[in-house]
Amino acid sequence: DNEKELIYLSKDVPRALENKEIIPFFQLKISTKTEKITGVEALARWMHKEKGIIPPYKFIEKAEENGNIVRIDLRIAELAIASYKNWLVNGLVEDNFILSFNLSPKTLNVHNIDELIIDLVRKYKVNPQNIEVEITERVVIENYEHFKNIITRFREIGILVAIDDFSAGNASLDYILKIDFTTLKIDRSLLNGITKDNHKKTEIYKAIVEIGKKLNMKIIAEGVESLEELRLIRSLKVDEIQGYYYSKPIKEEELIEYIKKNTVD
Ligand code: C2E
Ligand code: CA
Ligand code: CA
Repeated sequence: DNEKELIYLSKDVPRALENKEIIPFFQLKISTKTEKITGVEALARWMHKEKGIIPPYKFIEKAEENGNIVRIDLRIAELAIASYKNWLVNGLVEDNFILSFNLSPKTLNVHNIDELIIDLVRKYKVNPQNIEVEITERVVIENYEHFKNIITRFREIGILVAIDDFSAGNASLDYILKIDFTTLKIDRSLLNGITKDNHKKTEIYKAIVEIGKKLNMKIIAEGVESLEELRLIRSLKVDEIQGYYYSKPIKEEELIEYIKKNTVD
């Protein structure tokens, strides 16, 4: 039944895009030093008339298989950039605020994906230094030359590039050796259970933070849920935190409320 539902949903994605039912929610990133908002990540949600809010795990995977992910990624990117532009115009966010969104490996394979994203930056007249693309470390580089060219092009324009879901795998180290990432997002899996006196995990986490820092990357801890995790992460000199401890991904209206409440003039 479950598989049936996923197949049913995957066939419905083009209609959902047409009807503008797939939109970004936003999750806060918080500075460990100042506890202020540094930016947000846009995460896809499907606002379904009958089924309510459909989370990404129910439609992203199939969309990756059949190629619809490209349209989803571009839609989320455009809506998120448009929203960011509004926040900026309305004085809700500062000049150093970073807006991030995800580009799937399939999307990165599109031959002119660099131009498509740069076109959005131009269309909404936002500063490329405020825009970040997140690329999962699970990306298998089949077309290495193309991948490298795309990232290089983003960096030339000033767009930030994060390596997402980073864990302790070999592939990950190989990536950060070869590609000019600006941000390192350490996966929740490396944090899981770390507060239960897990000495090995703590040391590995520490080592990864150090490598990232030495390579001039900004370090983000993903999936911080508890105060204990927050304290530990703080002691490891991670730059920013993204996790349920501060907030789940929320609707744009809720984000605006949050920002207004947490900004003191
Ligand atoms: P991701 O890019 O790693 O995004 C972070 C995910 O971790 C989000 O799940 C977020 O809700 C969840 N998360 C954040 N903090 C915590 C925490 O403290 N604890 C736990 N357990 N989880 C936390 P979400 O929104 O369900 O998205 C899941 C994945 O779906 C994303 O993982 C990303 O890989 C994919 N995805 C979402 N939106 C898009 C999109 O527009 N394009 C593409 N290509 N992929 C997307
Ligand atoms: Ca991400
Ligand atoms: Ca992630």
